[in-house]
Amino acid sequence: MTPDTFEALPLAAPLHRALRDLGYTVPSPIQAQAIPLLLEGRDLLGCAQTGTGKTASFALPILHAIHEKPKALKPKTTRTLILTPTRELAVQVAKSFTTYGKQVRFRQTLIYGGVGQNPQVAAMRIGVDVLVATPGRLLDLIEQRHLDLSGVEFFVLDEVDRMLDMGFARDVNKIVSMLPQQRQSLFFSATLAPNIVQLAEIILRNPARVSIQPQTTTAERIEQRVAFIHKEHKRHLLEQLLSEQAKAGSAKLTIVFSRTKHGANKLAKGLCAVGFQADAIHGNKSQAQREKALDRFRKGLTPVLVATDVAARGVDVKDVGLVVNFDLPNEPEAYVHRIGRTGRAGADGLSVSFCSDEELEFLRDIEKVIKMPVPLWNDHRWHDETVADKHARGIRGPVPARGGKSGGGQKRGGGGGRNQGGGQKRGGQGQNRGGQGSGQSQSQGESQAAPAVAGATGFNPARRRRRRSGGRSHYSGANSSR
Ligand code: AMP
Repeated sequence: MTPDTFEALPLAAPLHRALRDLGYTVPSPIQAQAIPLLLEGRDLLGCAQTGTGKTASFALPILHAIHEKPKALKPKTTRTLILTPTRELAVQVAKSFTTYGKQVRFRQTLIYGGVGQNPQVAAMRIGVDVLVATPGRLLDLIEQRHLDLSGVEFFVLDEVDRMLDMGFARDVNKIVSMLPQQRQSLFFSATLAPNIVQLAEIILRNPARVSIQPQTTTAERIEQRVAFIHKEHKRHLLEQLLSEQAKAGSAKLTIVFSRTKHGANKLAKGLCAVGFQADAIHGNKSQAQREKALDRFRKGLTPVLVATDVAARGVDVKDVGLVVNFDLPNEPEAYVHRIGRTGRAGADGLSVSFCSDEELEFLRDIEKVIKMPVPLWNDHRWHDETVADKHARGIRGPVPARGGKSGGGQKRGGGGGRNQGGGQKRGGQGQNRGGQGSGQSQSQGESQAAPAVAGATGFNPARRRRRRSGGRSHYSGANSSR
């Protein structure tokens, strides 16, 4: 039986106190399932997306073990190693440990690239209880003998699917080979493709399995729409969407995804030029720039963040109400991750994807992965019926996006039943021992200005928000400090 409340979980008193302070009373499904198994010492294979509360599902049992069995720190070692694909996610995870463990005596640090290594080396000198790291810098420091993994008791691999997408397979294998045999291992991935299951089999021993989102399904709480549009008009439609957000008086934030770093910069600049407060984050920005941009975004000072996939990983901001796929991702799984930036912790979310002729193949792949057609939004000035029709009839775009297949005329399954317009119902650092916690002018060169408001018959994000107030989730409490 899974526990209905945190009180029913046999966690140490300081953890219960922290959870009460946070206002968390009801464990999310992954927490309810995973925490009892982890407290028994089992290895775990968790299939869960971000936004499901998975960080607490591993942070709480690990903090419990550290509290119950405190150990003297050993120089250059760590009792817990959490590997994440990106710096941003590493920072988020470390923050969660700080938040949940604010009344537990433990020491943690962060190790990631893109910043000087000296503070990280210094933090490891006396050893830590919890180390959150990205693979590359971790291996660097191991090779320089600034740390060793011989003391690891708890090993967590977070967002494994992303880790492999980003080419970390060799690094991960190398790190795993350095771990002691005697350990508890936890493995989290949003999808369980065969290569991921293979890696899990190497790492885990007789693992318990917990699956929160069935493989590759789209987060249910997120309302999705696709707009078929010529690529030159995408900016206008984006401006329209953002104006509607602003008109609705929404305090919600928007993340706009761009496929390229250059595109992200250009878009953010263009939005600023027409009066929106926007910033860009991508891999070419320094860690300090990324953190500053994220901080301003979180506070609502720049309510629009234009991001590339890698940079957006680990962005856990509660009030993201809208995700716009300005460009569709060429990896269908990235779509699931992108739209998962909204609808976090049980909140409502909306995602709008722009699809031009060149991106039809990407959309087809996405719909295969999410096993449903993305509902159509055609009630806007730039709707391109030719592209919509091509999609409905399964005709590929002009540029074979991947694999060089050209196509035509083939029928696609599942294209029917599209929702025309709106109205669609949806289913739904406390007492730690220190450590490093860590002018409104249309831009030139565009002939067509964006209309002020959407045509009022169909899908309209502002109306949708009014329609859909209420709808509480299983989460009952206030949210974290993230
Ligand atoms: P995660 O999937 O771990 O990134 O968590 C998503 C968000 O849910 C974070 O903002 C957490 O602070 C929040 N959260 C996690 N567990 C709970 C809970 N049981 N009740 C309320 N909020 C939660």
